[in-house]
This record gives sequence, C-alpha cells and structure tokens, in this order.
Amino acid sequence: MLTVEEALELVKAHCEPLRAGRVPLESALGLVLATNVASDVDSPPHNKALMDGYAVRSADRDSVRHIVEEIPAGGVPHYPLTPGAVSRIMTGAPLPEGADAVVPIEDSEMVTASTVRLHQTDAPPEQHVLRRGAAMRAGEVVLRQGTLVRPVEIAILAETGQAFVDVIPRPRVMILPTGNELVEVSAAPGPGQLRNSNGPMLASLSTQAGANAKMLPPARDSLDDLARNVSAGLETDILVLSGGVSAGAFDFVPRVLAEQGVEQVFHRIALRPGKPLWFGVKRSAKRSALVFGLPGNPVSSLVCFELFVRPALAALAGRGFALLVPVRAKLTHDFHHTSDRASCLPAVLKSTESGMTVEMLPWHGSADLATLARANGLARVSAETRSYSAGCELDVLPL
Ligand code: AMP
Ligand code: MG
Repeated sequence: MLTVEEALELVKAHCEPLRAGRVPLESALGLVLATNVASDVDSPPHNKALMDGYAVRSADRDSVRHIVEEIPAGGVPHYPLTPGAVSRIMTGAPLPEGADAVVPIEDSEMVTASTVRLHQTDAPPEQHVLRRGAAMRAGEVVLRQGTLVRPVEIAILAETGQAFVDVIPRPRVMILPTGNELVEVSAAPGPGQLRNSNGPMLASLSTQAGANAKMLPPARDSLDDLARNVSAGLETDILVLSGGVSAGAFDFVPRVLAEQGVEQVFHRIALRPGKPLWFGVKRSAKRSALVFGLPGNPVSSLVCFELFVRPALAALAGRGFALLVPVRAKLTHDFHHTSDRASCLPAVLKSTESGMTVEMLPWHGSADLATLARANGLARVSAETRSYSAGCELDVLPL
C-alpha cells in the first residue's frame, strides 16, 4: 500500500494551475495574480504633506512668518514660497514650489490672520514630506505574477487603476455524497438511516480552502444513480465523492468512475483513518478534472480532505501544492497504539510557557465527529513506533 508521502507525490504530479481569467477588482481577494501589474501613476502623485501644518523653506529661521495661502487636500498651490513665507497645508496636499518641509500645526500659534509664530524654527529638510514617486513610479512593476492578493494588494491595484485583474480563478469543486442510508439534514432519520453530514462538511472545507463549492444531492448505491451523478459531477475542476470506496458489496464508486472514463491513479493508502482513499483523473480536450473518492466515515473524510484535497486546491489556484505545516509539540502523557498503519489522530495542541504541547483525545473510531470537534490538530504517529512516552515530540497538523 502507498504511504501518505507517496500518494501525495502522485496527487501533486496531476495538479497544475487553472487557466487565468479576468475578474473585477472586488472579486480578486484571495486569488493569485496571473500577470505582472505596472502602475500608471506616480505614488504619491505630487510632493505631499504628511501632516496638517505649514509648508516651509527649511533654510528660513524667523519664528514669525507670513502666510501666503491655504492648500487643502485635493487643492493645488497657487504661489511659490519666497523666503520668510509659509503656506498653511493639509495632510495629503501638494507642497508649493520652494517648500521642502512641513511644521506641524501643533508647533505653531496664530499671530494675526496672515501671520503665524512657529515654535519649531529649525525644521530639517524633508520633515513630514513624501516626494512624488517615492512609493512607486508610473510604468514600474508594482506587483509580480504569482502574488497572492490580500487587502494590501487590493489597495495597490485600486491605486493603480486596475478595475479588472488577471488572476487564476477559484477552483470549482463538486461534492457528491453517496449512500443509501443518507437523508437530508432537515429529515428525521428512520431505522438504519443517518443525515448527510459529509456533504455540508466537505462543501464548507472547500469554501474555506478558497474554492467555489457546489453540493449535489446524495447518490444512491446503484450503478445507474451513481453513473448519472458522477457524469454531472465531472463538469468541474475537482470532484469530491464521499463513501462507496471501501470493500463493501455496494461500494460501486471505483467501478462507476472507471466506466465514466476516470483513470485511477491510486486506491487505498497506509493511513488511519483514510485507508480506502481513491484518486484519479478524468482527462478531456479542455482540461482534466481531478477526482477524490473519500471514505464515508466523517473523520476519515475530513482527514483525507485536509491531507490531500486542500493542497490540490491550492495548486490549482496557483498557490503551489501547499501541505499543512506540522507543529512539533511535546506529548503530555504516555501513548500507545496498535495500528499497523501511520495514523493522524485528533489531538489538542496548546501553547504553554515551556513550548507547544499535545494531548491525544480518546479515539472512538472514524465516525466520531464529536471528539474531532474538540481537537485543534491531527497528531501523526507512525506504524513502526507504537509506544510514545510523555515528553517525546510529535508532529501535529493544525486544524
Ligand atoms: P462507506 O465509505 O460508504 O462505506 O461509508 C462508511 C460509513 O460512513 C457509512 O456507514 C456511514 O455511517 C458513514 N457515511 C457515509 N456517507 C456519509 C455522509 N455523507 N454523511 C455522514 N456519514 C456518512
Ligand atoms: Mg456507502
């Protein structure tokens, strides 16, 4: 059976960034730029006052000075400064010719309507001034292709007039829960039934990971119903199924996927929970869809999503195949497991004065969502080492 690392390499080999598209600026948050962006303006666009106060000639030394005019933000100066003269200026306004410093309003007092006493008579050159083009110049590349758009990049794109932006789009994810036992969230489960919790969980994990997620209604465990739903679900970048990939008599998902032309890359990995994981690719002239068949048990589904689907989504979105970064943490108690597979188990990570600690939560199996909800990490333990003593260090994937 493949190890998690071998399986990840195979998934990574099938991931490439989606084709770029143009979106309005307000939709670009969280996406990756597909081209370099050059500024069409100098920033600031003029020599700019950074304080409310007086634009001065720094060489002048008199304390009482003549006020030539007032320059509000959005206005322009009409007079150059001659020796001994100042202009009252507001933050952001353009400095008049001849001025090279600003004395803040707090360091002055009015004498008459047209004269002011400056308490600071030795303002150094450039005090509270930002020169035209100091932050960026027209024609200069200000954001590089591959940059993740955060709020600060939104501001730069706005400042440089990019009402539309070329980005790698959000990957489209289709979620397809499978199982005869599943009923809608609003229904009361009858004997042998349970509510479809994986569907909403996987849709919200996908949304959280930056995808555009849609959920199909649960498919029944019949070849016909599965085939119909898989065919609809393949119109996407990533199809995520839950259930139907284990060894049961009604686990038809691998067979139906093969019949729909999805090439299997692997089935089953050495991981607990998550052993039945299925991964394949549907190639088409336009572009391929990745297909993940996650185990139906909710904890297994979540673990497989975090380990495999999340990095794949990041890669399609142009952010690279970004694996969860493990935190090294000291075990707070002795721990022993009996599995012959590497395991990712619900655990509580804590930051303490002596560093990060991890406490394993009691493992009630891969259907136990309630324990997982108390966890904030998945602790990794290996198949080879079954016994861990208090104080030893484990890798924990933060959730
Ligand atoms: P399967 O992988 O299809 O054998 O499913 C294993 C178990 O996971 C089922 O018996 C259900 O208890 C559970 N399960 C499957 N699909 C879902 C789902 N969509 N929501 C919640 N539990 C599920
Ligand atoms: Mg099933």
